[in-house]
Amino acid sequence: MKRALITGITGQDGSYLAELLLEKGYEVFGFARQESWYRPNCATHLAGRVHLLFGDLIEGVDIANAVQDAQPDEIYNLASQSRPGESWARAPETLLVNGLAATRLFEAVRHHKPSARVYHASSSEMFGRLSESHRQDEITSFTPVNPYAAAKVYAHHMAAIYRDSYDLYIACGILFNHESERRPLHFLTQKVAYGAACAALGIKNSPHRNERGRPIVEVGKLALGNLAVARDWGYAPDFVRAMWLILQQDQALDFTIGTGKIHTLTELCEVAYHSVGCDWRECVLSDPVLVRPLEPGHVLADASRAREVLGWHPTVSFEEMVARMVRAQIARLKPLVDSGEVA
Ligand code: NAP
Repeated sequence: MKRALITGITGQDGSYLAELLLEKGYEVFGFARQESWYRPNCATHLAGRVHLLFGDLIEGVDIANAVQDAQPDEIYNLASQSRPGESWARAPETLLVNGLAATRLFEAVRHHKPSARVYHASSSEMFGRLSESHRQDEITSFTPVNPYAAAKVYAHHMAAIYRDSYDLYIACGILFNHESERRPLHFLTQKVAYGAACAALGIKNSPHRNERGRPIVEVGKLALGNLAVARDWGYAPDFVRAMWLILQQDQALDFTIGTGKIHTLTELCEVAYHSVGCDWRECVLSDPVLVRPLEPGHVLADASRAREVLGWHPTVSFEEMVARMVRAQIARLKPLVDSGEVA
């Protein structure tokens, strides 16, 4: 039986990946902060099916112990401060978790389990400010525009340096945005799904609050930033399948993973509100306070290598993904409406 160690198992990707590996017969070890595990999280339903190794990725000794204890055949390094917007307010911490901690993991592998295959979560945010309109692939250069992306660029380069210098199997997935019913509420796509669910249920002031402590939907309106921003958005379970495929190759190679289709935030709103029979223009406003200081450019994946080498392609369309997210939010909010807790 193969053994896999997943950092960030309590998150969106970690939990989907754990499910996939359990289905494939792996023994799964999850590295998580103890306090996070005992709060409701994306992997709560997997309690008893995965082995837990508690620690903080920032602590080199914690991750070294986890590698020693799990003796994994495969390691998936997914833990990170994963919100580019928030990385402005938490730049030093973001650098530690998203950058330095990856190097500590590579060191642990080098010393304690050099035969392990390592997947590292890089990000399309690394491409940053792009003036060209062409797609991004594994050889596109990086121009990060936020602390999150800068830290990811550092870790991405360290992965290559450790791979080449110590003959380790370390492969990076440069993943474009991927969403799901498990995205936390502070992410843009989930906010839109939540807003559409509130519109469908007639909720004018939502029970959940945004970063500024205001109801996410207030007086019937969902406040967003720049509605013209565009992303290549895919469905998370499709993307964790790519992570697994990446580690099944004879040679450690980096892969760009994305749908190759771009949608604006306006289109996202249209699809989400339309799925519940509402007009987004009556329910969404653009608030200048929510606009990021710098936005990445025209971020669009060229996943040719993944298609040709891994045989990977996305299976869930943008429209279907958004509809699933809206349905999930309705299922969460409806009991509150039915019980009279929310009007
Ligand atoms: P997520 O849901 O935010 O999960 C992040 C995970 O990292 C959580 O389990 C979190 O644990 C853990 N973590 C954070 N700081 C930690 C620390 N100091 N020690 C231990 N664990 C820590 O993110 P995701 O969407 O699954 O993304 C997975 C990875 O892919 C991340 O590296 C992200 O940057 C990258 N990525 C994601 C996307 C995307 O669109 N989803 C795109 C490109 C790249 P807690 O529960 O303790 O906070």
